[in-house]
Amino acid sequence: SLIYLNGEFQPAESARISPFDRAFLFGEGIYEVCLLVNGRFVDMDSHLARLDRSLAACGMTPPPERPQLERIINDLARRNGVTNGLAYLQVTPGATPRSFTAVPQDRATLFILTQAQDFLSAPHLSRGITVQVQPDIRWLHRDIKTIMLLPQVMAKRSALANGFDDTIFIDEQGITEGSSSNIFIVTDAGTLVTRPLSDHLLAGCTRQRIITLARDAGMTVEERIITRDELSRAPEVFATSATYLVVPITRIDDHVVGDGGIGTVTRRLQEAYIAFIRALAAT
Ligand code: PMP
Repeated sequence: SLIYLNGEFQPAESARISPFDRAFLFGEGIYEVCLLVNGRFVDMDSHLARLDRSLAACGMTPPPERPQLERIINDLARRNGVTNGLAYLQVTPGATPRSFTAVPQDRATLFILTQAQDFLSAPHLSRGITVQVQPDIRWLHRDIKTIMLLPQVMAKRSALANGFDDTIFIDEQGITEGSSSNIFIVTDAGTLVTRPLSDHLLAGCTRQRIITLARDAGMTVEERIITRDELSRAPEVFATSATYLVVPITRIDDHVVGDGGIGTVTRRLQEAYIAFIRALAAT
């Protein structure tokens, strides 16, 4: 299949990036992942807004294609014949001499790929996932969607090695987020709770959409710290992301959440989110 790299649609096999690219040398770069359903990208505006925020936060120059980005992403999906799946896009400052403070002279690197996958029929949507709680060893600008993902890779590998599907990170205040998702709990009173936005977690586009859909459905949503203790006592816990959508968490460490299946509120929000996506695709 084709990728888009620095102004050209080209076969991935022959695409080339300089070894002096600052992403390779310094891990300097940011990315986005956007869900594609029936030929429509979900909340593309939010993803591109976050891309702009990440670029600004890193002091990176946007790629010259920035004004046409949405069209290029759609074009790539069409050329690849992908109607259900995702687009991954990555921006780096491009190549410079190997110096921390070198100023890029060339264009920013822009890389886009599409991947066909039916995320709406993933078994974990109904079956749920199990998670291991691990200390959040990441840096303190987690609001920037950086490609520096070593802590996430290590956490996910550790979870897998211990028989879990994924990880929830915890810091000195409470749970921050999943390794690549945001976490919500439902309280006994039926209130939805998720950690407030700050530089301690990523502002998930799905998180925001779920908050909006929940409030539209008349539910109470609180953005506040969730302690480890509260997480353990919650009758329902779920994770949100562009590729998870809304996924029930059925076991946390060695403790079963609720009755070990998908909770009523989680199911309701999952259905509302899928209905929202399908309505987009129908327009
Ligand atoms: N937190 C982290 C650390 C992530 O990597 C992701 C996935 N992008 C999310 C949250 C969820 O964000 P979104 O809903 O925009 O996919």
